[in-house]
Amino acid sequence: MIIVMNFKAPKEQITAVENKLVSMGVETNLSKGVARTIIGAVGDVTKIDTKLIEALPGVEQIIRILKPYKIVARESHEQNTIIDINGVLLGGSTVQVIAGPCSVETQEQMDLSAKAVADAGCRLMRGGAFKPRSSPYSFQGVGTEGLSMFHKAASKYNLPIVTELMDVRMLDTFIENDVDVIQIGTRNMQNFDLLKEVGRIHKPVILKRGMSATISEWLMSAEYIAAGGNHNIIFCERGIRSFETAYRNVLDITAIPVLKKETHLPVIVDPSHAGGKAWMVPALSMAAVAAGADGLLIETHPNPPEAWCDADQALSPGELKDLMVPLRGIANVIGRDL
Ligand code: PEP
Ligand code: MN
Repeated sequence: MIIVMNFKAPKEQITAVENKLVSMGVETNLSKGVARTIIGAVGDVTKIDTKLIEALPGVEQIIRILKPYKIVARESHEQNTIIDINGVLLGGSTVQVIAGPCSVETQEQMDLSAKAVADAGCRLMRGGAFKPRSSPYSFQGVGTEGLSMFHKAASKYNLPIVTELMDVRMLDTFIENDVDVIQIGTRNMQNFDLLKEVGRIHKPVILKRGMSATISEWLMSAEYIAAGGNHNIIFCERGIRSFETAYRNVLDITAIPVLKKETHLPVIVDPSHAGGKAWMVPALSMAAVAAGADGLLIETHPNPPEAWCDADQALSPGELKDLMVPLRGIANVIGRDL
């Protein structure tokens, strides 16, 4: 950590900053330039609250050299982490497509969805039994019963299931219902108590990007999960808010290479909640695979116009199957399979 002192800072102020740092357990290194004095803090600076130093007279700027996230950082683990989801590998050379409806509705709808997902060649299935809706009057999901419908439908095709956890009180129910992957949605990316709880178990977690979160905030949220001992984390870019109203969110393709550089953990993309319209999903999916995404999270429904939630963005079974062809072609071009 480097503390840049104001050019007018007298010696007493510089000494006071040095003493404060020493009292916090780090060593200091003074460097007096012609225009500036800078103090280097050497040692374990991770627990130093920079606000306490910033408040001292004469301090102009503090520059942290170490990243605020450690376990999830590629610096701590050079190789890509491959997550094993009941035998389906995510983060390796195979790009995985996770598909399924926005929400669990009925047993029949889930059975038809599971068949469509398996027929298209996808190896993982998604579906929400608990839905985070912007309006309290919108359909909130079928609840716990939906988890067993989901399980029943997916197990017929050996598809591990991905579903969203919104409330920490439901975690035991998720475990009892053999949920394979817990999804933390955009609205809960910074629900730190929820992150800590999923950090205490070992199930894989898909951590969606907060709709207005920076990459650094997102990485720190993942660090909350990792710090508890659960390193099975998958980042999911799902679009961020902007001034544009022509589509639901802006898919931040740039986040893919940036995250792949910053973290060893897998990165997937949700083109459905980004575009918000089914016709945009193929283009966004292809772009994501070309940019290096390890997987996709795609909404599909046996009868999209009748979907209880996010009907506009659901692919029909035929559209999902057709999309797999160019996706596989792109994956092959970049040395992967799908
Ligand atoms: C979802 O995947 O069903 C969902 C609600 O997504 P998000 O949290 O990205 O809005
Ligand atoms: Mn949805």
